[in-house]
Amino acid sequence: MVKDLFVRDFDEKLHVKATQIAANNNTTLASIVTDAVDKWIKNYEKVQHRHNLILYSDETSLSKILSEIDKLASDNWFKSFCGSANHSGIQILNKRKWFDATANSYDEFLERPQEAATKVLENINNEVVGSGRRLLPLTVAFLVEDLVRKDSVKKAAGFCEWYERKSTPGTTFCISNAKSVLTGSFDDLFNLFDAHNGVFLVKNNKIYRLRLDDEHFYSLLI
Ligand SMILES: [Zn+2]
Repeated sequence: MVKDLFVRDFDEKLHVKATQIAANNNTTLASIVTDAVDKWIKNYEKVQHRHNLILYSDETSLSKILSEIDKLASDNWFKSFCGSANHSGIQILNKRKWFDATANSYDEFLERPQEAATKVLENINNEVVGSGRRLLPLTVAFLVEDLVRKDSVKKAAGFCEWYERKSTPGTTFCISNAKSVLTGSFDDLFNLFDAHNGVFLVKNNKIYRLRLDDEHFYSLLI
C-alpha cells in the first residue's frame, strides 16, 4: 500500500534540482524522496545499534584506536568499558575517566558472560537514566580477547551472537588482539566476524574495514 506525503515549505532550489534529476533519469520525485527516507532510516537504525569488532596488531595500534574513539566521542555519549584492570587498554580508558561498566567484577564476566553482560547493561542504563540527558551508550569491551584466551574463539563468537540478537541501543566495540582471535578455526572465525555489524583491522596509525558481504558467485567476474 502507498501513502501520500505532503511536504510543506520544501526548499525551492532542492525541489528544482531533484525534479530535474528525476526527469533526466526517467524516475519520479517520489522515488527520490522514498530512497532518501529509506537511507535515513537505515542510518538511524545503524546509529541506534552498532556492534563492531576491532582487531589490533600491537600496543601502538591499540593505543591509537582508543585515543581516536575517545577523541571522536562527544559529550553526547556515555563512555564505559568492560575489561580487566590489568589490560593496557583499560588503563588507557581509566585515565580518560571512562566508566567501569563491570563495577569491578570483571572476573565474574568471564565465568558467566551472558548473566554478567545483562547486569552490565543494567548498570549502563542506570547511569544513562541517572544523567538526566539523552546519552547513547558507547562501550569498549575486551571480552572477545579474554574469552578466546581463557576458553576459545567459539565461546567468544557465541557470546557476540547472543549480544547481537539483543540489538541494544548504542555502540559497542569488541576490541581484541588479532593474534589471539586468528587462532580459531575457519567456522568459528566466520561466526565471530558475522556476529558483528563491521570488522576492522588497526595497523599502526591506520584502520581498515574487512568486508563480509554475502555475494553471488557471478559477482566474481563483474
Ligand atoms: Zn562483539
